[in-house]
Amino acid sequence: MSLTRRDFLGCSALCAAAAAVGISNAGESAVQGKNLALIHDETKCIGCRACEQACREVNQVPDGVSRLKLNIDGPYHKEDQPYYVFTRESCQHCQDAPCISVCPTGAAFRDEATGIVDVDPFKCVGCQYCLAACPYRIRFINPVTKAADKCDFCRKTNLAQGKLPACVEACPTGALTFGDLNDRNSELVSVLRNARTVRDKLDLGTNPKLFRIPSQKPGVL
Ligand code: SF4
Ligand code: SF4
Ligand code: SF4
Repeated sequence: MSLTRRDFLGCSALCAAAAAVGISNAGESAVQGKNLALIHDETKCIGCRACEQACREVNQVPDGVSRLKLNIDGPYHKEDQPYYVFTRESCQHCQDAPCISVCPTGAAFRDEATGIVDVDPFKCVGCQYCLAACPYRIRFINPVTKAADKCDFCRKTNLAQGKLPACVEACPTGALTFGDLNDRNSELVSVLRNARTVRDKLDLGTNPKLFRIPSQKPGVL
């Protein structure tokens, strides 16, 4: 999932508004409960992949498929110093999620208590409509359950035990901030208010809730 020039320029004009929109939309559209979201600060990320590994272990994700991918691009060079760009690829927990609207069985759903987009494997018939409808291409069929699968912010594992998502717990640099968009006193909302954030493919109207603090990519600025 790369930051295109178009995405970035769109952000430059709108980034301050994007965070505000994210916060205000969430407050308006959440029926009840929380509206959980995640920020990946690419400027703090060191590409260690501890998040990927923790996700796999905690959620028992089988080999060959992933709920979370950490992309490493580079090396690029600045003043003869090499550097890399790290981006996260996982479910965006869209407020207006096409995966939910195309699902014929109700297996793809939003948890009203948390705002998390999730999958009920017992209702899933494996038709793959949701895989085709997701503009972020992050869904897959789990080879063990034979159901659609993806990141659920550890709703059924760590969150159920009162813990943070596994990736957030494992990150050694504080690059991941998780919290409730409806809680104006949360660290997440504070970061959104104070940092320049972007969201991918905003023009599609999905209203994603995975925010990025982008690192500089050559040829973009
Ligand atoms: S990123 Fe894809 S799977 Fe996740 S909520 Fe959005 S459309 Fe659904
Ligand atoms: S694969 Fe499962 S979750 Fe996806 S649209 Fe079909 S029934 Fe719904
Ligand atoms: S654990 Fe944190 S620093 Fe390491 S790759 Fe993941 S987000 Fe980046």
